[in-house]
Amino acid sequence: MLGKPRFSEYKTMDVTSILADLNDAQRQAVTSEHQELLVLAGAGSGKTRVLVHRMAWLMELSGANYAQILAVTFTNKASREMRERVLSLQGNRDDGARMQPGHSSWIGTFHSLCHRFLRQHHTLTGLNADFQILDGEDQLRLLKRLHKELGIEETELAPALSRWFISRQKDQGLRPHESREKDSDVQPRLIEVYQRYEEICRKSNVIDFGEILLRTCELLEQNPDLLKYYQNRFEHILVDEFQDTNDVQHRWIKLLHHPKHTLTLVGDDDQSIYGWRGARVEHIRQFNRDFPEGEIIRLEQNYRSTQVILEAANHIIGHNQDRLGKNLWTAGAKGEPIQVYGGFNEVDEARFVASHIERLQQENINYDEIAILYRSNAQSRVLEDALIQKNVPYKIYGGVRFFERAEIKSALAYLRLICSRDDDAALDRIINFPTRGIGDKTLDLIRQIMRDRGISMWKACCILIESKELAGRSHSSLNQFFNLLDNLEEECKGKSLDRQIEITLQRSGLLTAYQSERGEKAQTRIENLQELVSAGKAHEQEFYSDVTNETDHAFEALRNFLDDVGLEFSENEKDSRTTVQLMTMHAAKGLEFAVVYLTGMENGLFPSAASIQDPIKMEEERRLCYVGITRARQKLVMTYAEQRRIYGEYRMHTRSKFLNELPDGYIEEIRLNGTLRRPVSWNSQSSISFERPNYHDSDLEINQDPESSTPEFRVGQTVHHEIFGEGMIIAKEGRGERARLQIRFKRVGDKWLLAGVAPLKASPVFSN
Ligand code: ATP
Ligand code: MG
Repeated sequence: MLGKPRFSEYKTMDVTSILADLNDAQRQAVTSEHQELLVLAGAGSGKTRVLVHRMAWLMELSGANYAQILAVTFTNKASREMRERVLSLQGNRDDGARMQPGHSSWIGTFHSLCHRFLRQHHTLTGLNADFQILDGEDQLRLLKRLHKELGIEETELAPALSRWFISRQKDQGLRPHESREKDSDVQPRLIEVYQRYEEICRKSNVIDFGEILLRTCELLEQNPDLLKYYQNRFEHILVDEFQDTNDVQHRWIKLLHHPKHTLTLVGDDDQSIYGWRGARVEHIRQFNRDFPEGEIIRLEQNYRSTQVILEAANHIIGHNQDRLGKNLWTAGAKGEPIQVYGGFNEVDEARFVASHIERLQQENINYDEIAILYRSNAQSRVLEDALIQKNVPYKIYGGVRFFERAEIKSALAYLRLICSRDDDAALDRIINFPTRGIGDKTLDLIRQIMRDRGISMWKACCILIESKELAGRSHSSLNQFFNLLDNLEEECKGKSLDRQIEITLQRSGLLTAYQSERGEKAQTRIENLQELVSAGKAHEQEFYSDVTNETDHAFEALRNFLDDVGLEFSENEKDSRTTVQLMTMHAAKGLEFAVVYLTGMENGLFPSAASIQDPIKMEEERRLCYVGITRARQKLVMTYAEQRRIYGEYRMHTRSKFLNELPDGYIEEIRLNGTLRRPVSWNSQSSISFERPNYHDSDLEINQDPESSTPEFRVGQTVHHEIFGEGMIIAKEGRGERARLQIRFKRVGDKWLLAGVAPLKASPVFSN
């Protein structure tokens, strides 16, 4: 149970903004007295809302300030939204407990938070201050080189498989020797690659995404004082989408949670969709074992979708065996039937979607309220073509992400080298791009020196220049490249971030190289590079406007920017307000839209070919379908193509078994000629029998604190408040000083107040 509250000194202790707009179960969760709390609930039931309100509630109650909160969200976008929502719940107060904008609050994704932690404590980890993050592509390039060095043929072991293996090991928190101990059947070659990969990363002062988390855990485990500091510091830890945490993330949360502090986890086992990336839904299941005193609260009212959409989701997920089991109900409208369209091929399917969206404009549905979801990124191209033809603006969320586009990565490589010359991945990318006469022979020589001496690529270049071993032209090319980077660094020093980027684009020759190419593609690349300058400007405004003289490091803003873009997994939010959103079903987790298209509903695509024969994978696919369906608020449209071109070949497909799992009578089939087949006896007014589960009043009771001197108020009692005047108590939760009272004031309407501190007196008269 929580200790005695340390109420802050608000005259009215008005917590209306925090407790209003919640249902009983949500309010029970927000105000739970338990140290550890798990909110286990279906899609759209307000888990994220509860998390945000609980954060505000706990800050209010404990007087904790933003620096004492650790909140983990699934995307960077969600963390920004959370900050904004907590700020608005806290109203306009201006005291120490208030959340403050900027980058000091510990609200973020697992990766962004652990990365920040490593930056702060890099000296303890053996990393240099300017360590860099390897993304998936850098990792693959490094592994290709490494396979070559170890004499591993592609047919024996593909670099992509090594990358997958290493990531899975790190997700489980396993180092090479532990992987071997855990699974004696694992291919010895894989362990050898993993081991050598680690050595190279250490020498090059780089870490990959998985390493960020694993290194953080190890650092805390090996430094008890540091662990103690953070355990004491984070009074409240909150985690959204808990069902998708992997072992090492779970380990980190458990490490940081001090038994005297609070831990709030929210999740839905039916939405666990990252098993393939090491997430383990067991973490939800073992909550009681981890925290025997913890409380589990279930929310079952859905506020997002129509009855039809919800019933469809419930029906489909009901086919899974491996569930904790729960049902969602809604008090909302029945809504329209689910539309299903079968195209004869993927082009026809895409045209249908584009025309359908065009028609929606007559219903005044904004583009940004529409999402097209697909199972695989490759599906987007045909959909994009159809949208372009119909002049429908769209944006790909998480597809070829902005920061992963070739030209952007090259520009970032130059910027990374300004910060650290020892960044091998960056140097490897642009040492001869744009072409500057540093040929394959020179590069082979450089790599040889790197390997022999165990040094960075940059240092190997230095040795080569000093030894004057290279032929005249190669020598001067390499020398000029060195000068180029030195000049860049010199020129950028002290400039604003956008100016640094501009200078880099010009001096590196990148802009000129693309300008000399013709065609639309080159033009797009130039536009993207210009967009990078804007991104730099926006970054500086967001993070550095209120931070003055925080550091005298000339490239602090640049480094911070590079870190941020390195961690930006799935978000390119430019213009998202006025465009249709295209994304994979995985990327749509946690989001909601008025209209959702689930495309490619075909066996072999969704569910994927790999999962059809495997019952465990099949259940994960079905959960993904559940996630997709529950993103929709008002309209759900599902489409499939009878033939689809995959890898250049047409394949015949049958419609997805998930379509057959939809409840009878909820589907409206749209035929090729545009006719509709409505379900028999469809009546949008008729109601489907949704049972509201019974919550008992006793569920909401909280034990009375025997030391409390607060008078017990009752529902129906009239009271007088120093500021709000006369009112009547219309609801009460809890007892004693922690009791929450909902009071209907004559003058100011309904308010929630805390009995323990609100200046309230029982009043004898209440006149209407
Ligand atoms: P998901 O499982 O998809 O992440 P969730 O459980 O986190 O969903 P939220 O996103 O918090 O659900 O809420 C779903 C929608 O319902 C949001 O639009 C939210 O504003 C609304 N909502 C939640 N609770 C209430 C409530 N008590 N009153 C009105 N609207 C609510
Ligand atoms: Mg949510």
